[in-house]
Amino acid sequence: MGEPAVVVGLTSSQARERLAVFGPNTLPEKAPEPLWHRFIRQFQSPLIYILLFALAFDAGLWIYEGARGWPTESLTIGLILLLNAGLGVYQEFRSEGALARLKAMAAPQVWVLRDGELVRLPSQELVPGDVLRLEAGDRVPADGALLQAQGVLLDESVLTGESVPLDKTPGQEALSGTLLVRGKAQLEVSRTGSRSNLGKLAQMLEQVEAGKTPLELRLDRLGRQIARAVLVLAAVIAVAGVLAEGVDHLGAMVLFAVALAVAAVPEGLPAVLTLTLALGVERMSKRKAVVRKLAAVEALGSVTVIATDKTGTLTENRMSVHLLDAPDPTRALRAAVLANDAEGGGQGAGDPLEVGLLAYAEAQGVDARALRQQHPRLGHRAFDSEWKFMRATVEEEGRGVGYFKGAYEVLLVRCRLSPEEQASWAEKALAYASEGFRVLGLAEGHGEDEEGLSFLGLVLFWDPPREEVPQAIEMARAAGIRVLMVTGDHPATALAIAHKIGISGERVLTGEDLEHYDPETLRQVVGEVNVFARVRPEHKLRLVQTLQALGEVVAMTGDGVNDAPALKRSNVGVAMGQRGSEVSREVADLVLLDDNFATIVAAVEEGRSIYENVQKFLRFLFSTNLSEVLVVGVGAMLAFALGLREADGSLLLPLLAVQILWINLVTDGLPALTLALDRNPGVMRSPPKPAQAPLLDSPSLRFVLLSGSVKAAIALGILGVVPLLGYGLEEARSACFHFSAIGQLFFTYPSRHTRLFPSPNPVLHGVVAAGVGLQFAVGSLPGVAGALGAVPLPMALWGGILAAALVAWGLTEGLNRLFWRPAVRDSVR
Ligand code: ADP
Ligand code: MG
Repeated sequence: MGEPAVVVGLTSSQARERLAVFGPNTLPEKAPEPLWHRFIRQFQSPLIYILLFALAFDAGLWIYEGARGWPTESLTIGLILLLNAGLGVYQEFRSEGALARLKAMAAPQVWVLRDGELVRLPSQELVPGDVLRLEAGDRVPADGALLQAQGVLLDESVLTGESVPLDKTPGQEALSGTLLVRGKAQLEVSRTGSRSNLGKLAQMLEQVEAGKTPLELRLDRLGRQIARAVLVLAAVIAVAGVLAEGVDHLGAMVLFAVALAVAAVPEGLPAVLTLTLALGVERMSKRKAVVRKLAAVEALGSVTVIATDKTGTLTENRMSVHLLDAPDPTRALRAAVLANDAEGGGQGAGDPLEVGLLAYAEAQGVDARALRQQHPRLGHRAFDSEWKFMRATVEEEGRGVGYFKGAYEVLLVRCRLSPEEQASWAEKALAYASEGFRVLGLAEGHGEDEEGLSFLGLVLFWDPPREEVPQAIEMARAAGIRVLMVTGDHPATALAIAHKIGISGERVLTGEDLEHYDPETLRQVVGEVNVFARVRPEHKLRLVQTLQALGEVVAMTGDGVNDAPALKRSNVGVAMGQRGSEVSREVADLVLLDDNFATIVAAVEEGRSIYENVQKFLRFLFSTNLSEVLVVGVGAMLAFALGLREADGSLLLPLLAVQILWINLVTDGLPALTLALDRNPGVMRSPPKPAQAPLLDSPSLRFVLLSGSVKAAIALGILGVVPLLGYGLEEARSACFHFSAIGQLFFTYPSRHTRLFPSPNPVLHGVVAAGVGLQFAVGSLPGVAGALGAVPLPMALWGGILAAALVAWGLTEGLNRLFWRPAVRDSVR
């Protein structure tokens, strides 16, 4: 093999020309769903069916009664349904747009030779003729021929279904979509985009999964349950009503049943939930955490353990050589350059550790390029976490010499050393490692032999902890989350770094331990130890399983090809956006654009905040619905008992179906949407919520019951008092409607701070103020008020309504204080 005749690849201008001819290396987009289709889909919900039934019934009744005047109620219900569907479509576009942007952020990047330099480009910019550098873990981004292939194993299972990876040699073809599981390759691109073998890859490019999240599914289920209960209730009421009132009033009874149904159904819920999730995902991406599966958003909120890599995640991955401890530095540097797959120059391509080593050798005056050309490779064993070293056998003065670099203890046992020498090297290495240095050994041997080597020395790398990490670890601890370090590095290095960043404990568990302990012991020690070293990917899987058996919700990071199973198994698999393999990103739930541990903690915070906001709007929406059901139900019974009737003799309803719809969608739905904007800095100061916690916890349930009853009582009081003041029943009912709407607007405040106090939300203030104004405008404009079944009211009554709403607000706040001493009161961040 060896270095081929100089491969230069394309120039940027050639690439530009070809890009114009061949187009980008992407697949044609799927045709988008037609707008009308989306629109119709919004109506496919049991909650909406109830409204459609109400509409049809109302319109039917109007026609039956001779189609006189305008069927205002049907028209209003129709309008509100259209509005709801429009909002739904808008929501969908919004969240799809957000997902598309996320997808672009997590799009694969490749090393390409352009103008003779290796540069990192998005794979969609590839053109035929480009020369790529591929590493273990990369997915082949376009079809091409292998110019170089060192220890290349290609997994073609996407194409053939054959799961055993195949050896590939230079000259062979590599098809797009296949996976480089080991080795290093140079590929000359022949076909890109839809001309390439991308067909199979197409499914994989569907990167971001937008399936329904567990929370959405639970709410869907809840919605269906409510719908079913409501239908039964409505049917019973209609029948009972007809029995009590006679068949003459069938129409009015059905309308009443419909009003009750509408009151019980939280129409705004689906839209609010979608928006909350979409906004949360966007906020996470602003903090450099890209969610690839929406379900991960919720899992993040209940994470109890973060198991993280050390190198590059807790540390900066700045692999600068601190010291070369070698009796013969020249030979040691030679090993460092030849047993090295990185490429120098420019940004330097390859494993950061190897890039750092190469840079060091060059700084010591070694001409790496010339050295590699003089000593072409004859044989090779690629680095793998499994064996923790690599070998390159090169030609030197007519014979083969093997150069090695790897974990020092792995190489030491392969060396021909006296016991004293061995012990002295090991002692030295351990001392370096205990200071937190990453210690690598160098060795040489004959030909392809991997035993009886000569030890060449130790290289120390200093990879400092990231500055923001100690604080993030402290934050996680305060939030009741355990942080585990899981690394392939030496136990002493791991422990030293762990202590520097605030991970406590004196004990280190190794991958071997994980392998040999029986499940019982393992569960016990895993519950206590925080640092895991010399861990191989399969050990990670065992660790995740053990933690989950202990009932933990685990977020685990991984960058290697073989980390995929552990990432899949963990509750939140976390991959690295910069470093790390393409495969790990494909299976991950979350990608860290900056590879930074602190970003995981930020994502957890956002996840919890989302859950907190969901709780808030559930409290809020259900409290209105309860009060409406009570007002309608109790009010109708009172009207029946007191013999209050409409002009046509039918029972007087305290709230009309349109009015309830108006409240649910406008004065309820809009402020609920703004709750999604709430920031909750306090969420990281309490322990994680169990993943299976009920949607409404018991304090929330109490809130719903109390606030709903208080408001219903006041609304009914208004219905009773207004006529006593000399107004008509129409005025009383209008006042009840306005009170319900305005009172509800004020309820956003007690709904949002029960246990935690969120940061101020100016949009919410605006929406509440605008809502009150809108209600006043709607109630005062004769035409509009009529459509909503209200009559204009004198100013004095408006004042009374406002006062009653303020009283209701004050009462709920008081009840809140009484039942809910806030756990945390937060300063504004
Ligand atoms: P980590 O990067 O977390 O230390 P790895 O499994 O990647 O875990 O590496 C395990 C060990 O193998 C490292 O601690 C180091 O001693 C050695 N090693 C890492 N990268 C290389 C490499 N490119 N060549 C030779 N040895 C390596
Ligand atoms: Mg590594």
